[in-house]
Amino acid sequence: MINLSGIRKLFKTKDGIVTAVDRVDLEIKDGEIFGIIGYSGAGKSTLIRMLNSLERPSEGTVTIAGKEMSSLKGKSLRKARQEISMIFQHFNLLWSRTVSENIGFPLEIAGVPKEQRQKRVEELIKLVGLEGRGGSYPSQLSGGQKQRVGIARALANNPKVLLCDEATSALDPKTTDSILELLVDINKKLGLTIVLITHEMHVIRKICHRVAVMEAGKVVEMGPVLDVFKKPQAGITKQFVKQVTDPEETKDTISHIIEEESGKVVQLSFIGEETEKPLITKIIRKFDIEVNILQGKISQTQEGAYGTLFIQIDGDVVEIDRAIAFIREEGVQVEVIDHV
Ligand code: ADP
Repeated sequence: MINLSGIRKLFKTKDGIVTAVDRVDLEIKDGEIFGIIGYSGAGKSTLIRMLNSLERPSEGTVTIAGKEMSSLKGKSLRKARQEISMIFQHFNLLWSRTVSENIGFPLEIAGVPKEQRQKRVEELIKLVGLEGRGGSYPSQLSGGQKQRVGIARALANNPKVLLCDEATSALDPKTTDSILELLVDINKKLGLTIVLITHEMHVIRKICHRVAVMEAGKVVEMGPVLDVFKKPQAGITKQFVKQVTDPEETKDTISHIIEEESGKVVQLSFIGEETEKPLITKIIRKFDIEVNILQGKISQTQEGAYGTLFIQIDGDVVEIDRAIAFIREEGVQVEVIDHV
């Protein structure tokens, strides 16, 4: 279904040339759920943007359903792009439009008549489990419901491939599960090929058939998810696998904690030389906020520390935002997973 051959993508920056994707060969099968995992900066977004023709490869070819994307222009490119749809971490909904209008938007653009559009929107609302919410505005929905709108909108034009860009990273663990279940359901019902990029191994384990692990623009490991979990080869894959030793238990505890606690709950994914403690101490010293470690697992090896932590940050909103920016500057992956 999707074939990437010798793909490279270079960006010119003021500091020189950045190789975002470096000689990637991939084949994604029809009807497969394929995961691409890597830490920030690994090249995942650039890769997925080339699948969507939002970026052109500097070298190599992208072939989708037998069509080489770089050879297409104008109408045929637009048609090929309609067969590939995308959902996003922050949903990218139109805030001034209702759920039905958001879902029907691609059909409106494609000039589908109103009556036909309404019928299709009804079908999609049912498919994603949003019955009765067609007239609501995005601001009246929970995160999970917003992503359901995103999924329904992405399916409006009957695509063959759904690209998911960190689609569950802004959701709490229980909602993440329900969205992943919906994706599996859609994959089975519609035979849709799904490609998802994530930095969370539990997402890969839960729904993907095969996975490619990316580091510094390269695919360093690829294979069926069960094989990769059983026998990870690359050092970075071993780290990802260790992060999900007991994800089910962690997720249940975290959603329970989120229900009880106030403040912003933040998930930190560590990989580096430092353990969590110096960082937490630095945050407390630098900002006028309280930080509690709710849950997590940090492992220390000779190469350094890695793991995942859930912390709750209490205090002034501006200070919390500055603290989160500070954590990112320290090179730690951070996701705000809920705000109660
Ligand atoms: P990921 O999605 O895994 O976080 P990206 O694909 O966003 O990784 O980025 C890979 C590398 O390419 C990073 O070093 C990033 O800074 C660089 N990069 C991505 N897009 C651009 C761009 N438009 N211009 C310059 N550098 C870029």
